Amino acid sequence: MRKAADVLERRQSEFGRLSTLEMGKPIKAAGAEVSKCATVCRYYADHAEEFLSDEEVATEAERSFIRYEPIGPVLAVMPWNFPFWQVFRFAAPALMAGNVGLLKHASNVPQCALAIEEVFRLAGFDAGEFQTLLIASEPVQRVLEDDRVKAATLTGSEPAGASVASIAAKRIKKSVLELGGSDPFIVMPSADLDEAVKIGVKARIVNNGQSCIAAKRFILHRDIADDFEKRFVASMQALKLGDPMDESTEIGPLATPQIVSDIEKQVQRSVAAGARLLTGGKRVGKRGNYFAPTVLSNIPPQAPAASEETFGPVASMFRVDNAREAIAVANATTFGLGASVWTRDRREADLFIDGVESGQVFVNAMVASDPRVPFGGVKHSGFGRELGVYGIREFVNIKTVWIGKMGAASGEATE
Ligand code: NAP
Repeated sequence: MRKAADVLERRQSEFGRLSTLEMGKPIKAAGAEVSKCATVCRYYADHAEEFLSDEEVATEAERSFIRYEPIGPVLAVMPWNFPFWQVFRFAAPALMAGNVGLLKHASNVPQCALAIEEVFRLAGFDAGEFQTLLIASEPVQRVLEDDRVKAATLTGSEPAGASVASIAAKRIKKSVLELGGSDPFIVMPSADLDEAVKIGVKARIVNNGQSCIAAKRFILHRDIADDFEKRFVASMQALKLGDPMDESTEIGPLATPQIVSDIEKQVQRSVAAGARLLTGGKRVGKRGNYFAPTVLSNIPPQAPAASEETFGPVASMFRVDNAREAIAVANATTFGLGASVWTRDRREADLFIDGVESGQVFVNAMVASDPRVPFGGVKHSGFGRELGVYGIREFVNIKTVWIGKMGAASGEATE
């Protein structure tokens, strides 16, 4: 696994270019994503032994302990938005636990999918320990129904997750789902507003707005709402939109024409429902899938900008009078992935930590994945966890061993 990290670092710019070519991520971010994959490989190389060693449990038995065993081949159905990171955060722990990884990657990133298989091959993994299957979504059912495949993990949309998890359930196989999000970004009067605006914009436009944990709904205390909105809009308008291969580009094109058309319709339907367009709201240029950084305010609850995931550079602004109301708006979604909360009041921070329904809460920071801490969602954002100690224990048999009286050893062990 350490060698896999070395290969990733050696070929970082080449792999970064592949992501940018296939899905439009700004080249700088693409390179950073490849480096992050090297980090997760080293993290599990360093910690797998500690996470998976036998764990003694005190009981009345002579000895009782928990042993973690691999379960076998695990199918990973992965999305295009972080074409390297999504796969490595599954593969590093799953392989370190002794499993086999089978990758069905998104259809628009086949070169990234093949490059990942190559990384493991060059690192010296046995043939077949990690395999890329160049298949469409229909044959996923056949692969998952095969008795040799023991479990599935899917990162992607709700319909895809529901389909794969039902197939797994029918065959009594475990699944992990990392699905969509409509993360709240709550700003209270005590917050450092400069920082909240700066990080808020970054958190919305990360990956050209196509991230599950992007900040999507900005829930602003009324006292700072005008100020925050004004500065946020100015920052969105100042972003450098352009060729993703250019190092200075801050926001590139969306991954497919379909995503542009979906986001355009969501904005139009939101405006028709009564939302106010503060900036953007339209395609940019005649070539490429560019969509202007967009800000909406006065959004009624039934508008798509409030009730659906917006997978593009569209920020939705809401106003509230207090922390309790902020929590109610934050939770008024079917999703529960991440939440970012901005306050310098510790009591208020505690209210949000307890009250927001999500898999992770970040206070005065942007929601981000990190190999050291678990990542996952509640509600329609999915179930199960990746990363940290919890990630490596998803695809293992947690075997209880209970040893009664053994007496004195006698004779040879037999098999
Ligand atoms: P998607 O359409 O669900 O695709 C994801 C993967 O699932 C692709 O490999 C796709 O293959 C496959 N797939 C689609 N329908 C399937 C089906 N019925 N059976 C089996 N496989 C199927 O999602 P997307 O539009 O690419 O990705 C965006 C979504 O992913 C967003 O909702 C985003 O929030 C979510 N996401 C979540 C996380 C997280 O960690 N929670 C991280 C990143 C993204 P094809 O490409 O061949 O269709």
